[in-house]
Amino acid sequence: MVVHPPAGTQAGNQVIDLRSDTVTKPTEAMYERMRSAPLGDDGLDGDPTALDLERRTADLLGKEAGVFVPTCTMANLIAVLVQAQRADQILVGDNAHMLRMERGTSVFTGVCVRAVPGTAGAMDRNAVAEILTVDRGRIATALICLETSHNAAGGTVLPLAHMQAIRELANEDGIRVHVDGARIFNAAVALDIAPDRIASHADTVAICLSKGLSAPAGAVLAGPAETIRQARQMRKLLGGTQRQIGVLAAAGIEAIEVMRHRLGEDHARAARFSKALNAAGTTLRASAPETNIVQVDVSKTGRTSFEWVDALTANGVLTRTVNPALLRCVTHRHISEDDIDRAADVFLSLAGRERAA
Ligand SMILES: *Cc1c(COP(=O)(O)O)cnc(C)c1O
Repeated sequence: MVVHPPAGTQAGNQVIDLRSDTVTKPTEAMYERMRSAPLGDDGLDGDPTALDLERRTADLLGKEAGVFVPTCTMANLIAVLVQAQRADQILVGDNAHMLRMERGTSVFTGVCVRAVPGTAGAMDRNAVAEILTVDRGRIATALICLETSHNAAGGTVLPLAHMQAIRELANEDGIRVHVDGARIFNAAVALDIAPDRIASHADTVAICLSKGLSAPAGAVLAGPAETIRQARQMRKLLGGTQRQIGVLAAAGIEAIEVMRHRLGEDHARAARFSKALNAAGTTLRASAPETNIVQVDVSKTGRTSFEWVDALTANGVLTRTVNPALLRCVTHRHISEDDIDRAADVFLSLAGRERAA
């Protein structure tokens, strides 16, 4: 993929962009659908293409209804606003995107956000049980928010048994479960199951159309009909109701009907990248990816992740840091096998080794 290199890049314009799957551009088929989509006023009587996307997404996730929103950040915020009252407590993983990146739940909702520790993106079940036991009758907990695949944990996928265990705890106290499923289709591909099997362990699910699915923008919140009716009103309050939004929803239909079926390619390339780094016997340690995110531990290399990002960028490979010890590399539709091999070569040459044959 050819992109304009950021300042400081010297390796010509054949940049390999591993920063995020959000960099993916719309496909030709998306532009075709966008051109021919039936349109209406989604703030008046509904845009037919947006309604179509909402129906298809709800069906795919086994939910009664869905609502199209501009971003998954807004979908997560609305999920909290319509399922928790002011001064209620909600439980969120301490490394969750909602907590660490979005923060709108803390800033705008008036709910008390309780961070729950966990491993590999999964909240500690016993910690959840303890919080609910201690707080029962004192503090009303309204919602538990899960995330799969888990962004900050390196694209890890919640085991269904874990989701079921959390759901059972929630059910005992009449607590709702929300899944931040920005990459739920990556999780479904990794588990080799239909997305509704994951979604069945939650009341509401947010999906993002503009990550590896390649739509230019958009997200959907799906759940019970009454909850989604309230979500639609809340979307209006937040300024998230748009007009002839079928032009974007059309790309979203292509994303969920077609593009989700190719995510396994991204996973295979992430695995190839991880193997190439680990096989060469350098001080670099790459995670074994479950989906399309590889975290590279650079703590033994004598350079921080910030220094690695700069050195890689100067050699045409774009990455991001997780913390001073960890780099994050994300595969997506514009990253070919050849790009993976070239990126691995750059890493290994900076670490003083050749890629293993
Ligand atoms: C990207 C992301 C979001 C937010 O999606 P936007 O559409 O960019 O607002 C939410 N949760 C997770 C896990 C994400 O990776």
